[in-house]
Amino acid sequence: MMPSSHPIREAFRAPLRYALGPSQIVEHSDGLLAVDETGRIAACDDYETLFPRLPKDCVIHDFRNFWIIPGFVDCHTHLPQLDCRNKNGLTLLDWLAKYIYPAETQFADPHVARNIAPRFYDELLSHGITTAAIYSTVHFEATDIAFQVAKEKGLRAIIGQVLMDQNAPQSLLKSHLQLMNETEKLIAKWHGLEKRLFYAVTPRFALTCSRALLDDAGKLAHEAKCYFQTHLAETQQEVTQAKEIHSFKNYADFYEARHALTSRSLFAHGIYLEDSELKILSDHHAAIAHCPTSNVFLKSGTMPLAKIEQHGIRCGLGSDIGAGPTFSMRQIADCACEVHPQTIMDQSKAFYMATLGGAEALSMSNQIGNFAEGKWADFCLFDNSDSAGKAKKVFVSGQCIFKAS
Ligand SMILES: [Zn+2]
Repeated sequence: MMPSSHPIREAFRAPLRYALGPSQIVEHSDGLLAVDETGRIAACDDYETLFPRLPKDCVIHDFRNFWIIPGFVDCHTHLPQLDCRNKNGLTLLDWLAKYIYPAETQFADPHVARNIAPRFYDELLSHGITTAAIYSTVHFEATDIAFQVAKEKGLRAIIGQVLMDQNAPQSLLKSHLQLMNETEKLIAKWHGLEKRLFYAVTPRFALTCSRALLDDAGKLAHEAKCYFQTHLAETQQEVTQAKEIHSFKNYADFYEARHALTSRSLFAHGIYLEDSELKILSDHHAAIAHCPTSNVFLKSGTMPLAKIEQHGIRCGLGSDIGAGPTFSMRQIADCACEVHPQTIMDQSKAFYMATLGGAEALSMSNQIGNFAEGKWADFCLFDNSDSAGKAKKVFVSGQCIFKAS
């Protein structure tokens, strides 16, 4: 008997690969992935074993020229920075001032958001990313458009309007009351929609947020049971300035006092954190988005993966477009293997972090991340000889939402 209680209409025959853990990779050289009519995985096994158990009218799609893997999970990226990649030669704070803030200011015009959002999602999908945690800009309408276009495209997304009320160009600052008001409206409209779209309360980072704004942001994320995402300890200069501005002894204490540490809190980078801070993040089940290509590009440093793992902190991979130059999770995984010692990082673990590990970091591993029965059928087809890491087809909840042209 098939485990799914819903009828199975379709199954996909191909070599299959997915992760059960950092060093547990399952492969079926001639596999079959059966999807029920609700878009969830009904079964996954060798073709020979599973085929006789399927209903007679089940349609079999033959993709034996490709590999099927779970859709990638990008735990940290910026929609408005699509066209800001490869701006070389600066480190974080100067790069923000020279390239990023001017680009994000353009999003006051909704036409800019309408132009960039579809191209951004097409880039995610063409690289096999089916779920992403995304920063918008400080603009309410641009963020609303980011959600609308994500809904139309059909991918899974966590999106947030960026919060800034100090230490940035005037054109990107708003009062914390206005920001909270706009955030509340966006949460009411989008959080949980179609079980695919979720809201993240998104202070950019501590330098550009007053304590009052961070207090309200932490409280709102907690009360609305939505995500909280921000950049944390990306460079030493940022940590030093944050300590001066907010007079705190350490970052983790500071966010703990803002009630911003929960299992739905996602901190990008986490490079310069002390052991005591990692313990606090771990105690609250907060997660880290590791963005190796971005860290290399901005010369920010190397995330202490071994220490983060010792503390049992969930950790997924992020493209961090546009500090990160590529959407390709394959290239990001390769970069992770280059920057960390072989003893703690290899291709199996990088593949896990780009799929199931990312899902765990986003508290979605009971829904996505591998081909366990009952999860959403989010997967993509890859040609293994394509080193650019481009997907041929992408499926979310069993529906094809992207085909390479
Ligand atoms: Zn970022």
